[in-house]
Order: sequence, then structure tokens, then C-alpha cells
Amino acid sequence: MNSICSFRSISITLIILSSFYVGNSQSETDVENLIVITLDGVRWKEVFGGADSVLLNNPKFLKTEGNRLSKKFWDDTKHARRKRLMPFLWSEVSSQGRIYGNRWCNNRVNVSNKTNISNPGYSEIFTGYADPEINSNELKYNKNTSVFEFINQQEDFAGKVAAFASWDRIHGYLNSHKNDFIISGGYSTSPGTDESFLQQTLNSLQTIIHRKESSRPDYITYLHAKEFIRIKRPKLLSIGFAWTDDMAHDGSYPMYLEKIFTFDAMIEDLWNYLETIPQYKNKTALLITVDHGRGDNENWTSHGPRVPHSNEIWFAIMGPGISPKGEMKESNITIYQNQFAATISNLLGYKFKSENVIGDSIDFDK
Ligand SMILES: [Zn+2]
Repeated sequence: MNSICSFRSISITLIILSSFYVGNSQSETDVENLIVITLDGVRWKEVFGGADSVLLNNPKFLKTEGNRLSKKFWDDTKHARRKRLMPFLWSEVSSQGRIYGNRWCNNRVNVSNKTNISNPGYSEIFTGYADPEINSNELKYNKNTSVFEFINQQEDFAGKVAAFASWDRIHGYLNSHKNDFIISGGYSTSPGTDESFLQQTLNSLQTIIHRKESSRPDYITYLHAKEFIRIKRPKLLSIGFAWTDDMAHDGSYPMYLEKIFTFDAMIEDLWNYLETIPQYKNKTALLITVDHGRGDNENWTSHGPRVPHSNEIWFAIMGPGISPKGEMKESNITIYQNQFAATISNLLGYKFKSENVIGDSIDFDK
């Protein structure tokens, strides 16, 4: 428990040097674009501690590919294991940004809705409000204003907002009936995502493989989002990945780890791609978070109102103007999921106006 925190002191000198650099160049590096990436139901324990030794050695959770993947993600310390699991997060993001939610270091991030399930979680992230009426995963069209809707109404951002997810419920929590920004999720072909050859190929691929499930494969979602960036250059974009939650409900711990590793690789690929485009390079913030946590020990497969600890979440952020502090430690405040919407808006230079009482923007000067 202590070792995961004590490592931090080694990198303090480097962090101070890089903070100084960002401080000097802040005027040229304000956030002009923002990407929100959500990883469904990824626990803070794997993010900060890598593969859990107890679960990785429990035959009950080893199912498919157990042995091969167990070796891939195993190392002696939590620090080494988390780097094996999420190498991009623990190199680029931790050196250039911040990672919140390590409860072993007394840093806490929680959902504020009472359900600890996906649809209320995504609604809370995007609207800044834990609506008690949104308490199931049923497809319902959200009556609460989302920060994506609000930003799309601003002159500088009109038509430059898009949201992609593997899960089809994105049409509900971002309300595709009410909104005309691009919303793409599940297996249906969304308007505005069928122009280029690659988009048409992805759409026919998802039609061919349609699994009669609510989520399409994350690779397809990722490529749709990346292609949209290539041809439309959105300024506010979200990508919602889903695989991890499915693998966890299946009780396959190595496959859950493998999907976390894949998400990290796709985020790295995306970030490297953005760095090649002048609109995005040094002008883009990245927010990575989750819809809910999961239970402890044998309860890791599950989450919900009756599963303790599944309200515990985490997030990572990097971008111009946010001084890099790496892994965040002791804090006497808890950050809540309902603060992300105001934070997204604030980073883009707008105060989010909602009909609801929403969470405050996160203060990165603290
Ligand atoms: Zn779930």
C-alpha cells in the first residue's frame, strides 16, 4: 500500500522542471480541442496497481487465454504491473498530465449517482447532473442538457462536436432525437458518418458482423472516430469503449486486462495521430475516465447499487495549461463524476449553462 505512493518522490524533480516549462508557454497553448475517452467499468485498482495478484491467480477467473495473458501482465511490483497494463498512460499521460483516483494514496474520485451502472454514469459525465430518474440502462432520451449540446451551440464550435461509442445507449444519454451533432453508437449507421471509403467500409463491416447486441466492437468505434477526425476535424469529440465491462461480467480476468491494454494502445495511437495535425498539436486536452467502478475481490465482476466500491472511479487529464503533476496524492477533497461536464466546458473557455444544479468545474490550480 505504501510502496505505490513512495515511488512518486523519485520523479518530483522532473515534474517541477516540466511544470516550469508549461507555465512559461501557457499563453500559446490554451485548449482549443478536447477529446473525452471513456473506458467502461475499468477499476481504479487496475489503473494504479496493474494486474491484481489475487484475481490473476484465481483459476475461477482464468478462462480463455488465461495462461498466456497472465504472463503478459505479471511483474513483481504494482508499479511495474501498471506500466505493463497501460504503458501509454504511465509514460506520456503521467509525465505530461495528471491521474486522479488512487485511493491507496488517499486521492478519491466518485460517481454521485446512486446506481453505479453505465447509463446513469454516462449521463452524469456529460450533463453534470445525477438525475434520479435515470436509474437503469434502458434506452431513454435524456431531457437534461449535455455539455456537448451546449458547446455545439457556441459559435466557435457549431458543427465541430461529435460523439462515438460502442454502446448504442449513447443515442439516449446524449439524446440523438434532440441534437444534430454527430452521435454514432451501436450497429446502426449514423448520419454524417458515411462519406469516405473507410467510413462506408466500417459501416458495411458492422452490418456484416452485427451480433444482435447493444455494443459494436471497440475497434470499429475507434476507427470511425479516427476517420471522422481525419475528414472533419472536430474540436470536441468523445469516444466510448465498452469491451472491459463485458469481459468483467464474463468473469475473464485476463481478457479484461487485455482489453484495458488495447484501450491504452488505441489512445496512444490517437494521441500520436493528433500530434501530426496542426489544429490539434499542443492545443488539445485529453480526458480519460469511466462510467462506474466495480466491486472488490470476488465481486470484481460486478457493479451496481448493492456492490460496495463500485462508486469509486478515476480519471486522467492532460492538455495545455494543466500543469503536469503525474499521479495525484493526498487530498482532502473528493472529486465527483458530475464535475466533468463543467470542466469540459471550462477548459474550452465557456461556463456550462444547464437547467440543473451541476457539479463545479475541477480546479487544476489546486
Ligand atoms: Zn456492467
